[in-house]
Amino acid sequence: MKKVLNGNEAVARGFYEAGGLVSASYPGSPTVEIIQTLIDEYDEIYAEFSINEKVAVEVGIGASIAGARTLVAMKHVGVNVAMDPLMTFTQTPINGGFVLISGDDPGMSSSQNEQDNRILAKFAHMCVFDPGDAMEAKVMTKEALSISETFGLPVMVRMTSRVCHSRSIVELEDRVDRVVSGFSKKIEDYGMIPPHTFKKQYEMKNRIAKLQDFIESSPINRLEDDYRSDVLIVTSGLMYQNLKELNLKLDVLKLGVVYPLPIEQIRALKKRYARVIVIEEMMPFIEDELKIHGIACEGKEFFSFTGELMSEAILKGLEGAGAVEANDAEVIEATETVNRFSMFCAGCPHRPVFDILKKNKVSVIGDIGCYSLAVLEPFELVNTIISMGASIGMMKGMSKAYQMAERQEPLVAVIGDGTFYHSGMTGMLNLLHQLDPDYNLTLLILNNGTTAMTGGQQTASSGYYTDKSDMKVDMETLIRSMGFERFKRVDQFEYKAAKKVIDEELKYEGLSIVMTTRACALQYKIVKPHYVVDPDICIGCRSCLKTNCPPILMKAYEGHDKLKSSIAKEMCVGCSVCAQVCPVGAIKSSSAGEV
Ligand code: SF4
Ligand code: SF4
Repeated sequence: MKKVLNGNEAVARGFYEAGGLVSASYPGSPTVEIIQTLIDEYDEIYAEFSINEKVAVEVGIGASIAGARTLVAMKHVGVNVAMDPLMTFTQTPINGGFVLISGDDPGMSSSQNEQDNRILAKFAHMCVFDPGDAMEAKVMTKEALSISETFGLPVMVRMTSRVCHSRSIVELEDRVDRVVSGFSKKIEDYGMIPPHTFKKQYEMKNRIAKLQDFIESSPINRLEDDYRSDVLIVTSGLMYQNLKELNLKLDVLKLGVVYPLPIEQIRALKKRYARVIVIEEMMPFIEDELKIHGIACEGKEFFSFTGELMSEAILKGLEGAGAVEANDAEVIEATETVNRFSMFCAGCPHRPVFDILKKNKVSVIGDIGCYSLAVLEPFELVNTIISMGASIGMMKGMSKAYQMAERQEPLVAVIGDGTFYHSGMTGMLNLLHQLDPDYNLTLLILNNGTTAMTGGQQTASSGYYTDKSDMKVDMETLIRSMGFERFKRVDQFEYKAAKKVIDEELKYEGLSIVMTTRACALQYKIVKPHYVVDPDICIGCRSCLKTNCPPILMKAYEGHDKLKSSIAKEMCVGCSVCAQVCPVGAIKSSSAGEV
């Protein structure tokens, strides 16, 4: 049977077919759909969104050591969080196959940086698969589990955003049931302290060497040499698909595994070709590997080190390299799409909070989550965004630096509940030590009960991790138990009352914590009647427009010279924030009668 799947769904399918049993992840684009698919479609598999990526890897390590085939998925930056247990796990033997899916994001469509996790995998002595479409994603997930068990090492399947989200036809096969082999209690295998660790370093190296021998003749790497061209292109994954769209008459070595490489195969091939050109996105990983092994090749001097490498850029690079003549290929013009700023949803509970902060003219240390959108127009309020959970630690560092410079500047940090539990909590505990009681610090915890930016996965506050267990954490109890005393809750949809509290806390000398309490508009749609503008009362001051709610726009009404506000009723979710900021009471609930 065949089905059209996207890359993420195909990975989930591959894990299911391979007899996968345990999976864990922290939600992050572009890989979030893998675990969601496992939760929604495959009852045979335990799947969880863990508290952060490190914990997800720890869950996976436990399952693998117990002998279950295991999958752990995360976005590229999540692998940084998970590196500590991962680096030790790559030393130990494997019982159940362990595959780590890394969602790399060339072009940073939804990430704070662009990092090439092939390099992290090599650093950790892991094998790396590089699928180019959904069918390959499924096949390679299964193959990765098999290699993991055969060679006794964790394997990375490195996806990129476009492979995760693009669809192709996938051949479905039946599930193969696998037994859980059980835990080997050999202390020298899993007790990772010296002297056991020294032996493990050599074993780790030997595993990669054995795998390299296997890779030399594996059909997972494929030579297409029909053209007998002077130039051999070495490429992998999506770059192969983009190259093939150009229909060029060039021989290609298409790699399925990019670490370790089939070095001897490529060395032999080099003798047949005048030039070897490597086409790869982001870092010159394959190119450097070849050069390290003394194989002369070219690559990054013709192609960008950053962003996505689409067919046009590949053609341009190959023309620049003199490997093809101009006009050798016809590139189909991309359809023009409308460029829009990302913005908060209608009825988003973050909107009134940032409106209040903007009115206070404060600088804000931001964090990762939907609320990072406040860095954009019209708020342009969040001044820093570095990494998950960093805002609280940064606030302390900034306040210490200002104190040393004998500068007083109120500091405000914002963080969502998911991010707080992920890695903000440790920064929070760190705030307790050497905190100047007179320094004006305000922390706003935007508790909306969900990991909203990735589609609404649970947080520790949303009440459950699986359908079967209740894990609701009371944020206030948790923070007070850490030792923080000044803690206020506000309902930000009671705009004036919330503004009064936040205004006061922003002036408080010392640390104050304010938690907002409205749920994400996407998860818990407000079912209140929509709001309407009375153009006879509206004075066109645009205060409502500044809340940046998508349904609100200015329009010309018949009989009025000036533009007045208007609300698109099909988009309005009735949160009432615009009505509360209107200075003249021109906005009312439609339940009071159409205007
Ligand atoms: S009531 Fe106003 S702020 Fe709330 S969703 Fe409707 S238009 Fe937006
Ligand atoms: S805030 Fe009130 S008066 Fe000002 S533009 Fe909006 S509806 Fe009109």
